[in-house]
Amino acid sequence: MDSKHLMPTYARKPIAFWRGEGVWLYPGTEDEDRYLDALSGFAVCGLGHAHPAVSAAIAEQSAHLVHTSNLYTIPLQEKLAARLCQLSGMDAAFFCNSGAEANEAAIKLARLHAHDNKAPNAPVIVTENSFHGRTLAALSATGNPAFQTGFDPLVPGFVHVPYDNLEAVQAVLEASPRGGAVLVEPIQCEGGINIPAPGYLAGLRELCDHHGALLILDEVQTGNGRTGEWFCYQHEGVSPDIVVTAKGLGNGVPIGVCLARQPVAELFSPGSHGSTFGGNPLACRAALATLDTIENQGLCTRARELGDSMLSALREKLSGQSCVKEVRGKGLILGIEMAQPCSTLVDLCLEQKLLVNVTAGCVVRLLPPLIMEQEHADWAISVLADCIGRFAETDKPVSGALP
Ligand SMILES: *Cc1c(COP(=O)(O)O)cnc(C)c1O
Repeated sequence: MDSKHLMPTYARKPIAFWRGEGVWLYPGTEDEDRYLDALSGFAVCGLGHAHPAVSAAIAEQSAHLVHTSNLYTIPLQEKLAARLCQLSGMDAAFFCNSGAEANEAAIKLARLHAHDNKAPNAPVIVTENSFHGRTLAALSATGNPAFQTGFDPLVPGFVHVPYDNLEAVQAVLEASPRGGAVLVEPIQCEGGINIPAPGYLAGLRELCDHHGALLILDEVQTGNGRTGEWFCYQHEGVSPDIVVTAKGLGNGVPIGVCLARQPVAELFSPGSHGSTFGGNPLACRAALATLDTIENQGLCTRARELGDSMLSALREKLSGQSCVKEVRGKGLILGIEMAQPCSTLVDLCLEQKLLVNVTAGCVVRLLPPLIMEQEHADWAISVLADCIGRFAETDKPVSGALP
């Protein structure tokens, strides 16, 4: 392997996969040599790898038409927009290619809303510890200096407040002109699987209504069935003005979307925003096949049930470990907060052929495919418990040696 012609933006593990099927990834041609993917490429491959419905849709569409540009009508885009609006309760969609871009569209709508209210300086309120992406405005919204260092000057207009704290949002709204916005994740995922108290989103909705501010939810990671509802806000019976999603929407084909209610969606006009690739026939076809499969197979319910059972199994298995601070989750977003930094756990699990990730330094994160079977979950949990036990014993760096 030779990465000298790649910019060094990633600390990659020295393993490559060449084939995937369902929950499994294979580094070689041996069927026995397989890794259980409990991360789904960061909540992207919710249907697992090489799902037949998505593979067939991509193959068929690519043989007909991949791209035309948004100069022309794209019926598959209209169909996907209608579907997403029906699932989300929004009125209109703008398609792009990633989570960061979907947030950029939402931030641009927030700016138009502020101008519409003759308050161009009304802030976009965002939260500490959040993650909204790597493009400059999304990075400026992100409440984590670790991602921002070296990239200033950042885009102005964002005010950071503590997460899960309604008083802090209220204070900023009261000190600002009408016409701002609040942009939050319903669960902070990169930030460490932080789940706000029930009523947080409803409280934000009420504050936004009172102060003429838009409520924007970043569901890039939590959307598309992962938490047990199509969108996480649906657990709370709250409706935002704008919702963005991306990761799990195309099961690996890049697609992002910014969905908005009227009259917010109408703040855009022809020429005011755009994307060359956004919503092309191939990506829309993949997303439609993904949504159909999630619906037909009842995978929202499955995410809820399997997630609940994994959460209790993890709590039970790890209850005696003093190095485990808390196990938390919603649907198939699961986090194990350790008492100390634990990135070496990723390597311990990799040696056992289990793919997980550590976020925010001390939180082991699981984002299993929604199609995962109970037996896979049981195996993953026993391997993880075993690795955490060894981590607790040694508590020292482990080599990344592969089997
Ligand atoms: C991953 C993520 C993003 C960024 O998505 P990209 O596709 O990497 O640009 C934004 N917001 C949240 C909540 C995410 O999890």
